[in-house]
Amino acid sequence: MSSDANTAPQFPNRDMAWEWGVCRDAMKKQCVWCKICGHKMSGGITRLKQHLTHTGGQVKSCMKVTVDIQKRVMESIKEKEKIQLQKKRNMQILSSHSSDEDDQDDVEEEVRITKKCFKEKEICGY
Ligand SMILES: [Zn+2]
Repeated sequence: MSSDANTAPQFPNRDMAWEWGVCRDAMKKQCVWCKICGHKMSGGITRLKQHLTHTGGQVKSCMKVTVDIQKRVMESIKEKEKIQLQKKRNMQILSSHSSDEDDQDDVEEEVRITKKCFKEKEICGY
């Protein structure tokens, strides 16, 4: 195995699956073309991933995709799920905190601030 360095994405908010997809119509953001086989689908980047990984029942599977690409798309899907799970867990920690420390005024205040921060930025890490 070669140690391929993680190529940092130019757009951190952009899904890495865009490497294999392109939106040619600015008016129809849900329309995505597969760069590999040229298949056009509507449903955004999620649909493209289904197309590439052959996991979608509603989209034609990509016939030209390589196993290597499929692996990377799968990883990006898992990564997203992980982040969503972590977000959910953070929410649960926050809500259990506020009910636990009910009788302590300053703690409650702190939780409130953390909550506000969490809502506004969503990437506080607390
Ligand atoms: Zn394709």
